[in-house]
Amino acid sequence: MPISGAAATTLNGSKYDVIVVGGGPGGLSAALHLSQKGLKVKVFEKKKILGTPVRCGEYFPVKAEMERLVPRVKNLDVIDAPPESVDNTCRSIRLISPRGHEFEFSFGAYILDRHIFESHLGDIARSHGADIDIGVQAHYFPDDQGGWVGPTREKAVHGDVIIAADGYPSETAERAGLPERAYAGPYAVATNIEYLMTDLNVEQDVAEMYMDPRYSPGGYGWIIPKGQGRANVGIGIREPYVRRDWQIRDLLTGFIEKNTVASKRLVGGNKASMIGDSLPVDGPLSRTYSDRVMAVGDAAGMVMPTNGGGIQTALITGDLAAEAAVNYFEHQTPLSSYEASWKEQIGLEMENSKLMRQASDKVMAHGFLFDLMLRMMGTKKIADVIMCQIPGGMGTFMRLLA
Ligand SMILES: Cc1cc2nc3c(=O)[nH]c(=O)nc-3n(C[C@H](O)[C@H](O)[C@H](O)COP(=O)(O)OP(=O)(O)OC[C@H]3O[C@@H](n4cnc5c(N)ncnc54)[C@H](O)[C@@H]3O)c2cc1C
Repeated sequence: MPISGAAATTLNGSKYDVIVVGGGPGGLSAALHLSQKGLKVKVFEKKKILGTPVRCGEYFPVKAEMERLVPRVKNLDVIDAPPESVDNTCRSIRLISPRGHEFEFSFGAYILDRHIFESHLGDIARSHGADIDIGVQAHYFPDDQGGWVGPTREKAVHGDVIIAADGYPSETAERAGLPERAYAGPYAVATNIEYLMTDLNVEQDVAEMYMDPRYSPGGYGWIIPKGQGRANVGIGIREPYVRRDWQIRDLLTGFIEKNTVASKRLVGGNKASMIGDSLPVDGPLSRTYSDRVMAVGDAAGMVMPTNGGGIQTALITGDLAAEAAVNYFEHQTPLSSYEASWKEQIGLEMENSKLMRQASDKVMAHGFLFDLMLRMMGTKKIADVIMCQIPGGMGTFMRLLA
């Protein structure tokens, strides 16, 4: 039986089997799996409350869609969202082209309350003995046996295996010698900004994606309905597409007030709060493990480059890293098994998604051309691209364009 966090520290000193840096979906999914297997786990999370403040559109495809999108993932139970964490359910996605053409396809998704979702993961991990320290910004100090993690070297505790789950950019991955810094090319990172809007009259069961080079250059805009007249409304942009004199906040205001379609949907709405963050959109790091460290979720670049979705891939990679750690302790299997597992289970989808992001990079700055291309592709092929599949008959074209 695992020993509970406080008791474990007293009985065994400050030594853990696994230390997880970051208590987001990736870190908590790892902690949950590890604690269920009886390993002694510590999580450090710098936020004072798990999942708060929310920095996310909270769009979370339902399990049936994930089974279709990533059919090789062996344990999709990790993505179960408890009913109390679901604010709203959407039945379709509608993409709006630069000139206002609409393409809608069915796609089931929950809109989460990430605070409740992450608290739930944390509660289960704690119930199995994981020791979760919130409000602590931790740093990794490597040694040959894993390393020390804590707010300072003096206050650090030791772990045999370390999981970097501290999002993007990951200080932990960088200190472990993983190629985190090499990642940060200007096309590789999206900057996102979002309002939670209230008093809206938007359709509650359709999530909308807006391709609008004027107000979301290099990315897209979104309206994700959260129920009760609320919606997450935001834009993602990439630096090379942005004219120097544009400020991201002005771009979001432009999207809300001037995008021909979005401005009608959002009329009368109020802005309740604003968040912003950056996101890696260039696929996984070229190496996601070292002898004693594994990187998961955003820290490892595990975000779908065409749609920016990263909650599910964080949960999946957190779970796979935990499985690799268990095998490391039980059978001395090297941590390279983690990279082999994610490549086998989601590698192809990550690769396809990156290829299509690179292909669309070539046209997305040109509103007219982009619009034309979307119309030529039609709804089915657009749906494939958004969902990280190469559309039938377009493989060669996409590769040439990329
Ligand atoms: C505006 C925006 C909208 C998004 N919308 C969606 C969406 O609708 N759907 C979707 O699937 N994805 C979305 N994403 C992406 C998604 O939020 C991430 O991919 C996902 O949260 C990754 O989970 P993670 O656990 O890897 O990282 P994170 O969620 O970033 O968690 C990392 C955690 O580590 C903590 N941390 C960092 N450094 C330290 C440290 N030194 N010590 C202790 N703790 C530390 C952070 O506080 C954080 O809680 C969005 C991202 C943004 C920015």
